[in-house]
Amino acid sequence: MHYVSTRGHAAAPSFSEILLGGLAPDGGLYLPAVYPQVTLEELDGWRALPYADLAYQVLKKFATDIPDADLKALTARTYTADVYRNTRAGEDAAAITPLRVLEQNARGTLLLQSLSNGPTLAFKDMAMQLLGNLFEYTLAREGAELNILGATSGDTGSAAEYAMRGKRGIRVFMLSPHRKMSKFQTAQMFSLQDPNIFNIAIEGVFDDCQDIVKAVSNDLEYKAAQKIGTVNSINWARVVAQVVYYFRGYLSATSDSTQKVSFAVPSGNFGNICAGHIARMMGLPIDKLVVATNENDVLDEFFHSGVYRVRKSAETYHTSSPSMDISKASNFERFIFDLLGRDSRRVRALFDKVETAGGFDLSGRPGSDGDEFARVVKYGFASGKSTHQDRLATIRAVRKEYGITIDTHTADGVKVARENMTPGVPMIVLETALAAKFNETILEALGADAERPAGFEALEALPQRFEVMAADADQVKAFIVAHV
Ligand SMILES: *Cc1c(COP(=O)(O)O)cnc(C)c1O
Repeated sequence: MHYVSTRGHAAAPSFSEILLGGLAPDGGLYLPAVYPQVTLEELDGWRALPYADLAYQVLKKFATDIPDADLKALTARTYTADVYRNTRAGEDAAAITPLRVLEQNARGTLLLQSLSNGPTLAFKDMAMQLLGNLFEYTLAREGAELNILGATSGDTGSAAEYAMRGKRGIRVFMLSPHRKMSKFQTAQMFSLQDPNIFNIAIEGVFDDCQDIVKAVSNDLEYKAAQKIGTVNSINWARVVAQVVYYFRGYLSATSDSTQKVSFAVPSGNFGNICAGHIARMMGLPIDKLVVATNENDVLDEFFHSGVYRVRKSAETYHTSSPSMDISKASNFERFIFDLLGRDSRRVRALFDKVETAGGFDLSGRPGSDGDEFARVVKYGFASGKSTHQDRLATIRAVRKEYGITIDTHTADGVKVARENMTPGVPMIVLETALAAKFNETILEALGADAERPAGFEALEALPQRFEVMAADADQVKAFIVAHV
């Protein structure tokens, strides 16, 4: 199995060769040269597999240059009941991503797949925990080291730190806007005492943090000398790790592989749902992939009109589902590549236009950039959006009707899922975070605190370890040099 860039760069690297990197040299994103296929017989044979074994079966099709025994050991070490222990009452931690029926009636079947039982209570652990183990394994094999530099406004940074803590050969330098994350998120990150984890609180906003990461990454000499890497959502291994839970959800919701299911996915950078698209391209019988956005509706606009129009900072809203507050969707190029029949020349032209003109139009109208929007339906995509008021109403309704508390992002998913039900096709909503992470809104909706999993009760009282720094790339560079 080798990989290609969406923008047509000639090299054809292997899985291990793209594991530690981000963008392809031409600025494109990596995808497999061809999607490996899964037959229905094979799928039925996977039905009873524990999550770790299923992960091994799926990943083996993509990571062909990692010896089978090593990959099997890596997945077994990653997907354990101990790592994914933050279950709700009645959930089986051994299932890793337990599936629960919310309702089953004439409207159809609505299910919730818990992806947030890992150490940071958000679905990013599903991929990041594997990445931590893969990175450590690959670096040890090459006798190499890696210094991960990242910017976070919450979920990504903590998932990366919990995945990389204590890993040999890896250090994490994570920038976050000083005093701008929730108390829970801040405490989650800053309470880590592992010597390979460095939290840097930048006096500025999230964009300042991201600008510093860009400035450091653009200094190629420094980047090479200090072995700087990233773990952002375009990382291919993260996407492929997420493919696994679509298989798990499908297999748990069906009894034989002639049936179809749909997924509703709270979306921001299009990483999560991109994995659903890949599962579908591999032959998983998915009917609809429903993109759910909040007020930052770049993706909903595209899936209703064929127009992709990225937002300026002033048009990007701070919402109560903050991990979906994006101005452009960094993984979207992967889907567009497939939508355009893998024509990398056109992909490059369209994404150049995103930089110069703020977007592109595939609606087929006179003067547009193409008419491929008509093909979107063939790929199963549908979409919808949700507002703060919708989130409050959905959190209340889910509490009342199903007796559980969901977080704000998952509420966006449930709201949009209910608008896209088809009788006879189970609809699985992916739960992307636990409510405890976004308690402010839960209090507003329910007038009571979200329950916290065991072990998180006194999180904010733990000692915190972090550096405060001006929004200055040179200071960050000097800090890294002093600590490697
Ligand atoms: C990151 C995140 C999302 C968005 O996922 P994408 O892969 O960026 O589409 C949704 N919900 C939560 C809680 C997240 O942390």
